[in-house]
Amino acid sequence: LAQHYLNRIAASDLNAFLHVNPEWTLQQAAAADARLASGNAGVLTGVPIAHKDIFVTRDWRSTAGSRMLENYVSPFDATVVDLFNKAGTVTLGKLNCDEFAMGSSNENSYFGAVKNPWDQTAVPGGSSGGSAAAIAARLAPAVTATDTGGSIRQPASFCGVTGIKPTYGSVSRYGMIAFASSLDQGGPIAQTAEDCGILLNAMTGFDERDSTSLERKKEDFNRDLSKSLQGLRIGVPKEFFSDGLAADVEQAVRAALAEYEKLGATLVEISLPKTELSIPVYYVIAPAEASSNLSRFDGVRYGHRAADYKDLNEMYKKSRAEGFGAEVKRRILVGAYVLSHGYYDAYYLQAQRIRRLIAQDFAAAFEKCDVIMGPVAPTVAWDLGSKADDPVANYLADIFTLSTSLAGLPGMSIPCGFGQGEKNAKRPVGLQIIGNYFDEAKLLNVAHQFQ
Ligand code: GLN
Repeated sequence: LAQHYLNRIAASDLNAFLHVNPEWTLQQAAAADARLASGNAGVLTGVPIAHKDIFVTRDWRSTAGSRMLENYVSPFDATVVDLFNKAGTVTLGKLNCDEFAMGSSNENSYFGAVKNPWDQTAVPGGSSGGSAAAIAARLAPAVTATDTGGSIRQPASFCGVTGIKPTYGSVSRYGMIAFASSLDQGGPIAQTAEDCGILLNAMTGFDERDSTSLERKKEDFNRDLSKSLQGLRIGVPKEFFSDGLAADVEQAVRAALAEYEKLGATLVEISLPKTELSIPVYYVIAPAEASSNLSRFDGVRYGHRAADYKDLNEMYKKSRAEGFGAEVKRRILVGAYVLSHGYYDAYYLQAQRIRRLIAQDFAAAFEKCDVIMGPVAPTVAWDLGSKADDPVANYLADIFTLSTSLAGLPGMSIPCGFGQGEKNAKRPVGLQIIGNYFDEAKLLNVAHQFQ
């Protein structure tokens, strides 16, 4: 099985994988075979997996898509990687992503963009573009990813695969290279909701090494897969069907909603009035946290160090100037600015207040419905290069995923059709399903019934 995927990876030109090492993979596969033969196997023993290159690994390099960490090898495995290793998965390699997970198209990777397997002239989405493309192109049956403001859901949507971001705090952030710590959350991408549930079962759990890890009883996220959807109330936020939504995406999403009605669900119109504000709020809070998290990359402790410099200060400056890409620098500047004396109250504190209101919008909505559905992104995948020089155009495309992240709620994306017209007919559309806190099992049930 591992060899099968290694062959497919070797033959692929999507740039989804950053590091592969067939020898290591086959060694792990042999160990899994031995475990299977001994009768001491679990559900994931021998299952090939690949990890987003933002999870640190002891054997493989961990670059986070950055020149800063081009040759970085961690002395330890991330908790998520450790859990999968213990479950007996076989690592196929590490997956390309936007630099430090900042982006919506995977074009911010120092190691080059990933191509969308459905249409190689399109972006795969981001930041977990390598993860979603690998599943769509059958380069791996299971992958890990992270979502700070949509990076599991949006690439899953653009690549026509299934991904879930669980409730904030469910998956340990230990060893996940930090972008915005109050938002970062790991999760799986796979072909189906059922596969996602199996992976989620393995990767969640309390971790004392992550200060925001939640202490909860172990649960089987797939326990309700076959439950009927009779009587399910689906909230349809009117703000998710606004002017900015492309007609072909709207049509695919509305068709999916009609399918759900046939499955016994009822549609309830709801309002999430602060949706529009999620963009400015996120793009204040995430850069603020990033500017703080990324201060550790100083050329001394981790990663890239400039070749020549006069003194310590110049070494810091040159190492950071050379090591970080344009989008990362932009966010560090924005973050340092909104946290600085005189601007902190006006921007950062204000954003925190509105973040609270966004969470309250959801709380009010969940009094009227069981799950919320809408589009993942306003359009299908765009052309590679078409928005690469326009950061704001990228930010605006995050409109439907950011609020879920700001509230810490679980959300997923499942494929629900394709765009329209000569070009878009090859580009998938994702349906977003948002749940209340800890409703992952319900989300997977709702997704599974559609699939
Ligand atoms: N597109 C968003 C950003 O650029 C979200 C990225 C993410 O979820 N990691 O920050």
